[in-house]
Amino acid sequence: MPFDRILVATGRRPRTAGIGLDLAGVEIDARGAIAVDDRLRTSAPRIFAAGDVTARLPFTHVAAHHARVAAVNALLGTRRSVDETIPWVTFTDPEVAHVGLTEAEARERWGDRAIVARSDYATLDRAITEGQPLGFALLVADPRGHLVGATVAAPGAGEAIAELTARVKHADKIDRLSSTVHAYPTLAEGPARAADEHLRLRYASPRYRALARPVLAVRRVLARQRSRSRQHAADRGANAGLERSCGGSSTGASPRPRSIASSPPRPAVPARSAPPDRPSHGSPTCGWARGPLPGSRSRRPDASPTAVG
Ligand SMILES: Cc1cc2nc3c(=O)[nH]c(=O)nc-3n(C[C@H](O)[C@H](O)[C@H](O)COP(=O)(O)OP(=O)(O)OC[C@H]3O[C@@H](n4cnc5c(N)ncnc54)[C@H](O)[C@@H]3O)c2cc1C
Repeated sequence: MPFDRILVATGRRPRTAGIGLDLAGVEIDARGAIAVDDRLRTSAPRIFAAGDVTARLPFTHVAAHHARVAAVNALLGTRRSVDETIPWVTFTDPEVAHVGLTEAEARERWGDRAIVARSDYATLDRAITEGQPLGFALLVADPRGHLVGATVAAPGAGEAIAELTARVKHADKIDRLSSTVHAYPTLAEGPARAADEHLRLRYASPRYRALARPVLAVRRVLARQRSRSRQHAADRGANAGLERSCGGSSTGASPRPRSIASSPPRPAVPARSAPPDRPSHGSPTCGWARGPLPGSRSRRPDASPTAVG
């Protein structure tokens, strides 16, 4: 990028001298910033301060947040504290946005147990269609997976950091970011893809695979058992149906109620075993006229290989 001069405009100082703060009992620090507590109270009990003059993060959105907290606390006597989850954006190209702990800060606190997940915008479809497939999203979480910080250095970083700020503020887990549906194709997908990548790596790890194997085996066995008992219930239903429709009458007359005292006792009906002799088709006896071949396992109730009557 060609240029003639660089303007470096850094360093701002609070202008607190000569306005009688000392007379009011308001303490200032060595840089002239007004000392406040989390409720934005100064050392003078009835005086509050907000914004850049407090030497906290010097941003417009911080000053606006301070104003809300200080005004309510001063006027209503409430005890609201300022929010510590403050995002910031550097409007370079691409933008750099950040909230919460950095990876270094998390490593300092939790060492290798800190969780760091990353996605590259080189493969993000919206970044590609925008002609800016560059940058990354980095998520930082505590050892239990609760988000504690995020950095996005990519197109649309300033927009993407809004969702991440809410998630860090509420200590959401990385999994929740992954399971939240993000519209496609958007730049907001970038951080969510980092969460996806974290989950992919977690489930592909040898530890999780070893844990998953027995669970999947048990699920398979249970599924087989469920399917068998469903089949069993279907067979029993079919038997009962055949019994009712045959009811001892070979002429197709209406079924006889089972409670009739003169009904002869019926033999127990095996659920699925094939009979030794299969009557020929068209036999006036019930059951096998439309039955399947012995040994076949049709789910049709009228095809159950059961001899009745
Ligand atoms: C070049 C530049 C770019 C910036 N870009 C961004 C950005 O992109 N995003 C962002 O969030 N922040 C940005 N900031 C920071 C942002 O402007 C400040 O954080 C924000 O304005 C702080 O608001 P404030 O009300 O606390 O103070 P200010 O906006 O500075 O307001 C203080 C007011 O008090 C007045 N005042 C001072 N002394 C006295 C006195 N003795 N008596 C009466 N009045 C007095 C001043 O004249 C001023 O009007 C930028 C700052 C600069 C300098």
